Amino acid sequence: MKIEVKKLISLGKYTGSFLFDYPIPEDLCVIPLCKLGNGAKVKAEYEIYDDDTVGVMLTVNYKITGKCSYCLCDAEKEVNFTSDLLFVPEKDDENYFYDGFNIDLKTAVDDAILISQPQILLCKEDCEGIAADKEND
Ligand SMILES: [Zn+2]
Repeated sequence: MKIEVKKLISLGKYTGSFLFDYPIPEDLCVIPLCKLGNGAKVKAEYEIYDDDTVGVMLTVNYKITGKCSYCLCDAEKEVNFTSDLLFVPEKDDENYFYDGFNIDLKTAVDDAILISQPQILLCKEDCEGIAADKEND
């Protein structure tokens, strides 16, 4: 998942967008008893600025499948997550660094997949879990 910044500048393409299919590494899933789908759809809309910083609107779309965290039934959920990022050719604490030539989106996409995951997966919004009997008096 690369954006060839120098090449795009030489072509005069200062804005544009790319679509990628990203096979999600298994260890990116942080929800117990769940898997992330085979691949994420990644969309990157970029804008290259005069100072060689590059704004990227990153959208990731993927599916979580597995067991409901409350009742253990099969469950799935589709996630759509957009983040607004800045890639800079000089390191700082707030933005993503790139070498001034090419942006590799992998780290940013992995981050987006990690932070967009819910803590738990539910089969339905109001799942009451295995012990749905009224225990609270
Ligand atoms: Zn459930």
